[in-house]
Amino acid sequence: MSSLSKKNIDVGDASAWSVYKRLLGYVKPYAGWFFLSILGFGLLAASSVLFVKILENLVNVVAANDPTDRYLVPLQVIGATLLRSVGAFVGIYLMSRIAFNIIHCLRVEVFNHMTQLPNATFDEKNSGNLISIITYNINGVTAAATDALKISLREGLTVIALFGYLLYTDWRLTLVFIVIAPVIGWIVGVVGKRLRRLSNKVQNTVGDLTQVTGEMINGFKVMRSFGGEDYEKQRFESVSKKNLQQNMKIVVTSAANTPLIQLIIACAIGLLIFVALSFMELKDPASFVAYMTSVAGILPAMRKLGEVAPTILKGVAAADSVFTLLDSDTEKDEGKYQVARARGEVEFKDVMFAYPNQTEIALNKINLRVKAGEVIALVGKSGSGKSTLVSLLNRFHDANSGNILIDDVPITDYQLRNLREQIALVNQQVTLFNDTVAGNIAYGSLHTRTLVEIRKAADAAYATEFIEQLPDGFNTLIGESGARLSGGQRQRLAIARAILKNAPILILDEATSALDNESEHYIQAALEQVMQGRTTFVVAHRLSTIEKADRILVLEDGEIVEQGTHTQLLAAKGAYSRLHARQFHDDADGLEEVPAI
Ligand code: ADP
Repeated sequence: MSSLSKKNIDVGDASAWSVYKRLLGYVKPYAGWFFLSILGFGLLAASSVLFVKILENLVNVVAANDPTDRYLVPLQVIGATLLRSVGAFVGIYLMSRIAFNIIHCLRVEVFNHMTQLPNATFDEKNSGNLISIITYNINGVTAAATDALKISLREGLTVIALFGYLLYTDWRLTLVFIVIAPVIGWIVGVVGKRLRRLSNKVQNTVGDLTQVTGEMINGFKVMRSFGGEDYEKQRFESVSKKNLQQNMKIVVTSAANTPLIQLIIACAIGLLIFVALSFMELKDPASFVAYMTSVAGILPAMRKLGEVAPTILKGVAAADSVFTLLDSDTEKDEGKYQVARARGEVEFKDVMFAYPNQTEIALNKINLRVKAGEVIALVGKSGSGKSTLVSLLNRFHDANSGNILIDDVPITDYQLRNLREQIALVNQQVTLFNDTVAGNIAYGSLHTRTLVEIRKAADAAYATEFIEQLPDGFNTLIGESGARLSGGQRQRLAIARAILKNAPILILDEATSALDNESEHYIQAALEQVMQGRTTFVVAHRLSTIEKADRILVLEDGEIVEQGTHTQLLAAKGAYSRLHARQFHDDADGLEEVPAI
């Protein structure tokens, strides 16, 4: 994960171990299945020894040339295979079942955590990276948990079983093997580490792929109209190529790993055979063949164990970034105060705010007392702090100093959910979910509302007419991101949502995009409805909204430089009148035409 975790992890690292231990913690609820699964793999490993034993029998039978024995060995082969199959099924099935259950838990945990991340985290991290934690990193964990664990258990137990057999058959020769084994292990370890160092710098570039693709798909209109196709193609080509190179690094190291390990082990076996042929008495050819078959059987098992390391490594790295996200702070919610419905008085007391990691102050010396039901229009140049000011109210960010109070209670004393229940938000960019129209109006905690209430809200938002013209009326499914609705219609749905919420405080970020006259008329009317009887903060772009506000705040570089009504401020000939002249001179006539309802 490029931005979440740049740590390099090695199998033997303490950090890798702690990540693995934490991952194993998720196995706890499935301890029963886990032991059964180990039992399955145990059967499988035991069958390897049985096969060696059967081979020994076969050699003896052939040597004795006794026709009465011809049924025994075939039956043994079938029996041992049956045992192996049952063991493999039980082991693999249960282990996969555990792994997929863990993945499910982890995925849900991560998603739930994401819903509680502070705004700053969403601002900081690009959406592609956050999405790829769920789609890519958790899959990496799956690979480690399923494949790696399965292979480790299956091959590990096979090695142990065959090794036990070796000891049992000829402990002296096996002692030689035991002397050689740590040396082999050491060489394999050193070689593996060298190779891994090459792939250590590999970072996940899938997040970048997701990001670029997402931007292209969401912004295809901009891309088309500005001829950005080549730019996007080239951008994608370069991140995809980077991903290819990163993958090749991993492939090169793991591809070189296996043959090298094989060669080293083959040398060891060669040495063992040499020792056996030179110094041991070879009275029993059958058991000697069986012995060497076991030694040779350990070879592929060890090879597969060696191959597992990169998968585990990738899984641990993936799990690490998943855990890093899970450990990141959620929104602070320490307040206890709750109110059924606030009156809607709002006060800013000497509020100062700077975005995290920014030296520039976004808001400074904000002092403001707003009566319940008052409509406050915020105006000012882009970047003057209007959106920031309203975003402090529902604690999307917390002020660095000063206090914000609702009904004389600091907002940090409110329980976060309760605070946000007091505030309805209508954004410029209306977010619609893949649900029915009714479901979109009654979104979230509003889902308990009846259709009658939803209809009433839609009426007040001047939305019923167009909703009823949709194929299934209120039950019409809105396609992904509401593609079938016009900008004005989407805004009216958002207003209906706010009306249904019926909160005492309203935050309105007026759309800057101009709508056709009819939509403009409806929106204006709908806005008047939703503002009624609510303390309203409106980031205003329309002259009509500004004119009708009880008070206008003019912001400049994060400070309130002027406040008053439209007429007062025009007469003062200060910042507002300059802004007014510049912004509304040309199109004021057009805006004035919009009938006020
Ligand atoms: P307005 O709504 O008046 O256009 P904003 O409140 O969006 O202004 O921005 C005020 C200042 O804060 C600007 O300088 C802007 O660059 C900065 N800013 C806004 N959002 C962020 C953010 N998420 N992270 C860092 N700085 C931000």
